[in-house]
Amino acid sequence: MPELPEVEITRQRIAPLLVGRRIAELVTTEPSYFFITPPEILRSALRGSILVGLERRGKYLLGSLEDGGQLLLHLGMTGQLFSSRARSVRLLTAAARSSLAPEEQGDFEPDRHTHLRFRFEDLGPEVYFRDVRKFGKVMLLAPGERHERIDRLGVDALEITGAALFRATRKRKTAIKALLLDQSVIAGVGNIYADEALFYAGVRPGRRAMAMSRKICEDIAREIRRVLLRSIETGGSSISDFIAPDGSDGRYQDERRVYARTGEPCHVCRTTIRRKLVAQRGTHYCPQCQS
Ligand SMILES: [Zn+2]
Repeated sequence: MPELPEVEITRQRIAPLLVGRRIAELVTTEPSYFFITPPEILRSALRGSILVGLERRGKYLLGSLEDGGQLLLHLGMTGQLFSSRARSVRLLTAAARSSLAPEEQGDFEPDRHTHLRFRFEDLGPEVYFRDVRKFGKVMLLAPGERHERIDRLGVDALEITGAALFRATRKRKTAIKALLLDQSVIAGVGNIYADEALFYAGVRPGRRAMAMSRKICEDIAREIRRVLLRSIETGGSSISDFIAPDGSDGRYQDERRVYARTGEPCHVCRTTIRRKLVAQRGTHYCPQCQS
């Protein structure tokens, strides 16, 4: 699932293709739970309009329209936002992946999973939002309109401080990892970076949030910011479906210390990395380095 770094990479690389270009037409798929705003309303509202900015809050992308409205995009589990000129095996069906060499792949052809297709008046590259599992979301906000999806987000994870985390952990019996995944506390952290940050901070993911000292909260907050920034620097994690808008893969998966390394030796102490469920999520940790 795309987390803050993958959404930020998407923002940085898709912004030049989305911002400042007048939309000639938006092509959509049929109504589904992908569309919080019905597709016919999106199509008529976006025709002829221009996005003047593209920001990120947590895992949401917020496009500003010239009339003051906002276009909200969420990549969900498998969402891909990319240029019509992107090439990646991650855009192919399983059958095509196995039968085609990378050099044989032509341009991506929009398929039934391509829910949004932005065509521009300049006739340059189009922008596609494709989502095989439809947990992604699109929503249009009128000028001045607010939505609880955005309003309830906590502090952006790149700005989390030890003091804020310490306050959020008080009287919370939940596991520290569950607290880190709570988007109303910290926006942007998901399963990968919660596990990685807790490894670097030396904290077991299942420990109660309220048991964290001020010092440990400082460590966790620092490691969250650090792993997220490092992941952005390396292009994000391409573990399943994530591709950058130009079709390239991220490289952060090569630097993982614990996430999805069950049974492999810890890079620090050689102890076998373990997996268990915390907050209903597969959670990875080193029993030696984390206490
Ligand atoms: Zn270890």
